[in-house]
Amino acid sequence: MTVYDTSDHQKGLIKNIAIVSTGGTIEMLPGHGGLDIADDHNPLPIKGEVIPPGVNVEHIRFCSIPSPEITPEIMAQLCLKLEEMTSSGKYNGIVVTHGTDTLEETAFLADIYLKGTVPVVFTAAMRSQAEMGVDGPRNVRGALLTAANNEVHKLGVTVVLNDEIHSAGRVTKTYTSNVSSFTSPGYGPLGFVDQDRVLLQRRPMWKIQLPESKLKLNQKVGLVRIASGLGAREIRYSVDCGDDAIIVEALGRGNVPPDVSEAVQYAIERGTIVCITSRCYIGRVLGVYNYTGGGADLEQKGAILAGDMQGHKLRLLMMASLGIGMTAENIRRMLKRL
Ligand code: ASP
Repeated sequence: MTVYDTSDHQKGLIKNIAIVSTGGTIEMLPGHGGLDIADDHNPLPIKGEVIPPGVNVEHIRFCSIPSPEITPEIMAQLCLKLEEMTSSGKYNGIVVTHGTDTLEETAFLADIYLKGTVPVVFTAAMRSQAEMGVDGPRNVRGALLTAANNEVHKLGVTVVLNDEIHSAGRVTKTYTSNVSSFTSPGYGPLGFVDQDRVLLQRRPMWKIQLPESKLKLNQKVGLVRIASGLGAREIRYSVDCGDDAIIVEALGRGNVPPDVSEAVQYAIERGTIVCITSRCYIGRVLGVYNYTGGGADLEQKGAILAGDMQGHKLRLLMMASLGIGMTAENIRRMLKRL
């Protein structure tokens, strides 16, 4: 069945979509002892039925590496490349293929940086092409359909896997192995791909956006996850290593043990920005507890409570904010909106 819902195709218009590939399982085959990036023949599924009617694809290989090797610096370079491509006027949409392990970080950085009206859609595969029930070809097709849609750019950068369209700001990998791994806890998908139709259901009211400036990252941002009896030593270490900011994934509503509260004070007294988020995967932090280590106590000590943003995304936001020269006060004001 072919039900192609963009009126452009029916009018005979061709959509030029670039596929920017970066590596990941979608490009892997079994090697000695396990999956690895295929050397000689790149199995990126961008042929035949994967390409929807009315779509013209140009493949650009940005890199070909497993996504744990994608550093923030590589993410930033990719974002600059995407910016150049979206403003070139050559493409109606861009699909980025990426390993699933760090996909949400790269997509998030692109989301807070890019401002254009050209859809940028990330996709990936949970299974290699050598496995039964391979998902890569279907995901690429869904991403191409999404990138060809005239409304999608209004959603910011999106992530399409398993027929679901998610906001890069909210999506996360929730399952190590299942094809339904990518979800947006507490928010849900923005839409769906059903056969050849792109069905958009919701639009985010707002998203965090970096001020106009060429993307640069400050690498000196730490991330500390709190657990019972753990975190104070790690925060002090991060300060002593010279970090300019530390993201603390606190407990529950944004609370930490008393010795971690002291370490937060230690950091703030030395000029390190401390930003609190929660290790809970749904919900905001808020200063409702005023015992030593409660969110209110941390706020009084000068920490910034940062809504419901995940620690690893918040770290990238902080790296970019500091990198482009935002002041601590501007960063505080921006994060207060979360
Ligand atoms: N480990 C792989 C990667 O992120 C997982 C994947 O692509 O699904 O590169």
